[in-house]
Amino acid sequence: MGKKERQNNLPAFVTLRDMPGTQVMFWVVDDCPYCGERHLHLAGNLRSADPSDTLGQQPAVCDPERTYELTLPPRPRKKKTKAERRAGKRSEAEDEW
Ligand SMILES: [Zn+2]
Repeated sequence: MGKKERQNNLPAFVTLRDMPGTQVMFWVVDDCPYCGERHLHLAGNLRSADPSDTLGQQPAVCDPERTYELTLPPRPRKKKTKAERRAGKRSEAEDEW
């Protein structure tokens, strides 16, 4: 439970990309938790591989002694957030009145 141990496997949010003209898929880490750079991880072949198999703990490209947890980012909820804010204001106002 040491701090060093926790810092050694941070979540890294990924998006799936395929290389144009090929059958190769990559997980793209847009914002590495360690160096902030973009890293690519081979996710397999479009025909044969399930890219989710390569999610999870992987060695960091910038520092092989560290690992990060390749994780799909939470779904964007910008529209819902606005609606929720409005709903929240309304309900708060109702409570006050
Ligand atoms: Zn990095």
